[in-house]
Amino acid sequence: MERGDVTAVGKEQLIALTTSDFLSNEAPEEKNSGLSAWEQATEVLQLTQLGVDRSSWAAFWVTEHGYLCYANEGACQCLGYSRTQLYQMNIGEIDPEWGAAKWDQLWAAVKLRGSLTLETQHQRADGTAFPVELTANYVELKGSAYLCCFARDITKTKQAEVEWRHQQERERLVGTIATKIRQSLNLPEILQTTVDEVRPLLQTDRVLIFKFNPDWTGVVSVESVNDSSFSILAQTIYDPCFNRSYVEQYQEGRVRAVTDIYNEGLDECHIQLLSQCQAKANLVVPILFNQELNITANQQLLHHQFSGYNTIATSQLWGLLIAHHCQGTRQWHEWEIDLLKQLATHAAIAIQQSTLFERLQLANRELELLATSDSLTGVANRRMFDEHLEREWRRMLREESWLSLILCDIDYFKRYNDNYGHQAGDACLQRVATAIGDAVRRPGDLVARYGGEEFAVILPNTNRTGALQVAEAIRMSVRELGIPHSASGVAWMVTLSLGAATAFPSPNGEPEMLIAAADEALYEAKAKGRDRLAHSTLQRR
Ligand code: GH3
Ligand code: MG
Ligand code: MG
Repeated sequence: MERGDVTAVGKEQLIALTTSDFLSNEAPEEKNSGLSAWEQATEVLQLTQLGVDRSSWAAFWVTEHGYLCYANEGACQCLGYSRTQLYQMNIGEIDPEWGAAKWDQLWAAVKLRGSLTLETQHQRADGTAFPVELTANYVELKGSAYLCCFARDITKTKQAEVEWRHQQERERLVGTIATKIRQSLNLPEILQTTVDEVRPLLQTDRVLIFKFNPDWTGVVSVESVNDSSFSILAQTIYDPCFNRSYVEQYQEGRVRAVTDIYNEGLDECHIQLLSQCQAKANLVVPILFNQELNITANQQLLHHQFSGYNTIATSQLWGLLIAHHCQGTRQWHEWEIDLLKQLATHAAIAIQQSTLFERLQLANRELELLATSDSLTGVANRRMFDEHLEREWRRMLREESWLSLILCDIDYFKRYNDNYGHQAGDACLQRVATAIGDAVRRPGDLVARYGGEEFAVILPNTNRTGALQVAEAIRMSVRELGIPHSASGVAWMVTLSLGAATAFPSPNGEPEMLIAAADEALYEAKAKGRDRLAHSTLQRR
């Protein structure tokens, strides 16, 4: 049969195509129903014919040259052609995949195997395409061969598959981000991963996280952009339309999915801003601190301790997670909106977590400072002095170098207090501490308040000569302050007596020996008239 030979397959012939009785060329036996075997077979054949004709599956027979010689109602319905039209058509017109070149291959494959099931795309009369699962069976009759094809529209199955894949990808991405958040406190890295991973999934041109400033201007903190679009990273953006109403909408968690920026009634300035970024469609999800977060006991404690920072627990619009589509307009799918919403929630958790961590670090640094410094003068306290001396003693032992210590005591300070009052005494101590610090220059040196009106200076890698030089510099530095001290028995101003000691640490020595030697030297300086320094060396090389 050839194209146009549409009546060639008559009813009788079709019946014959499917009837083994006829194919066997044997006369059917008489049955007891009263009908002749012939009549019974004809009835069965008519029923089969009706079944195929009315089937919701598309059924069509194709000749060796690719022309349709039979099509059922299902085929007409899903393809949108009448039977007459279909009988004029070549298979390539409803299945472009099977154009002339491929048809021969398909024919050969089905002929070889007898039957073949495959997935392909069919094209309707209106030009739209849809996926089908097709089974082609090879049949020969009276010297001609045919492919008897049965096709099922699998659009819904395919959509379900795509949806399932999206769901899988979405879960994988959300899982990746959630794991990153659990494992890392590196906020920039977490946010960068978020935009980097979501952009290919959305197959869009730019994904960014925008952080608001208090005046509702904002900055693009992280961005993922494809090669055909430009970067707007680190740009400060001011959107004059971003007023109260926008803020309120976002604070309520509202999402904006814009298919076409020119046709959705957006404010002119907003359109301008988006077109400057080359965006033709965009999707915006707020990043909010209004979720009930699973704050650990420690975080709650910290929260409680630093109640000044409590605002972070209230509803707050931190920023926006934005997708820009630049190639054209775009209808955003529900799953895409859901994905960005989930990621925005995770971003909010990461931001809050890292904010808390930063505050914890700051608080720890403050605590550390409090624990190691003297509250009146700001120099190291006695505890810090003890630790530092111990450490430097061991270090100088390892490095086989000199370690010096200077004890500085304000002369007649009791009288100063008595004369000028305790508050003036405190102020004097602060100024003296600063002056001592000014005279001590090396980074490894340490000035500490040793007690009352006594200060200690630890000088690693410093021998006797060096220690005497620093001690003299300290004495002069305090003198230069010129703080009047009319009750002093030694000068008109506040002065210091200093005892310096130098040791070459040995394995069986102790830092206490150095303190004792410096104390002895200080006693000597006092005894010799004050406002002077004395020195003692513990061990020499
Ligand atoms: P000397 O020349 O022998 O060292 O005489 P001094 O009066 O300085 O020595 P003394 O040990 O008798 O007195 C130390 C005084 O330092 C006693 C105390 O009133 C004062 N003092 C210690 N700590 C502080 C402080 O934190 N603030 C003030 N204002 N005075 C302090
Ligand atoms: Mg003293
Ligand atoms: Mg004193």
